[in-house]
Amino acid sequence: MQNFDVETLVFVCYNLRPSDLLSMACVCKYFNRVLNEHISPVAELIWENSRDKFTIFKDQDPPEAMTQKTFAKLLTFEKGCQFCKTKEETLTVYWIPGVRSCFECMVPGVICLDILQSTFKLNDEVLGLVLPVTPSLSESPHYWIDQVNNTIAHLMDADDNKLCEINNLRIGMGDKCREVQYYERWMSKLRKTHLRKLLSRFHAEIKEETLFEVQEDYEYKTLKNEIETNPFLVQDYGPQFEQYKSRILQIARRITENKIIQTQKLVIKYLKRLTYGSKRNSPKQTLSIRDRRYRYFSLCNSFRNPPDIINDDQFLTNLLREAEQLDASGTVVPNFLEVDGALKVGTL
Ligand SMILES: [Zn+2]
Repeated sequence: MQNFDVETLVFVCYNLRPSDLLSMACVCKYFNRVLNEHISPVAELIWENSRDKFTIFKDQDPPEAMTQKTFAKLLTFEKGCQFCKTKEETLTVYWIPGVRSCFECMVPGVICLDILQSTFKLNDEVLGLVLPVTPSLSESPHYWIDQVNNTIAHLMDADDNKLCEINNLRIGMGDKCREVQYYERWMSKLRKTHLRKLLSRFHAEIKEETLFEVQEDYEYKTLKNEIETNPFLVQDYGPQFEQYKSRILQIARRITENKIIQTQKLVIKYLKRLTYGSKRNSPKQTLSIRDRRYRYFSLCNSFRNPPDIINDDQFLTNLLREAEQLDASGTVVPNFLEVDGALKVGTL
């Protein structure tokens, strides 16, 4: 792999999505080094370019202490929760501690302020060096347990040099807090604008009547809810958008097919009322079961794609005319009045 031409590799990387770059960095040590911002001069640009080019998280620098790679990795929503891989609605980026997680996976890793103060007797010396989990999990602040433990360990073996560093850190906590709030606001604003854009693109690419047809369908409602609660899972020009679009069209097709089957059942009922066997039982029965045209009905367009209104003379006239045309054209169909024919019709 080391013989791989760096220029070609960089060119390839410039055309890859962040999720592909992340996979690539795991392929071998050489790729990993090229994509490592600490040792490769081109890595920062590669990650930034990929995020700008292929995701909605563009025109935004990472937080001060975060590399472009970590920023891009954090925003790779299509990979789901970092811990359990779920793509459920609670999936979000927690800027403190800096993970993409679902709510369920966050809970075991946090501890609430009351317990830290009352049970563990943590004072402001420690708490002044850690920020609560953002966005917050509930009304009372929670802290990431690993961060609290690391801070305590850091304080315990602090010499004079480290104490100076810790003091600077304490002074900088206000800025850090403002930075986290900034990214939280950025993400929530982006969520709204992206959802708006996504829905308007669905409306632009799917016919209005199709969206009207599916709007009460349970599967569509679940799908819409999925998009609305976590729009970041669907990039507007990514493969996920096409997947969602084709799922909506499938739902519409299923609804149309069901409607056709229901209408065909009504057509059969209607024809039954008009049909007589050996003798007429009512004056309304005008069609003999032995009429040659009868056996063609199931092939007629009026039956296969029935109109909304079927209980009228026009429907019957069309159906009989189409059956006559099929008969005249020499189309062969089994005669359902004979045993063999009935069996064949039954398996059609
Ligand atoms: Zn999870």
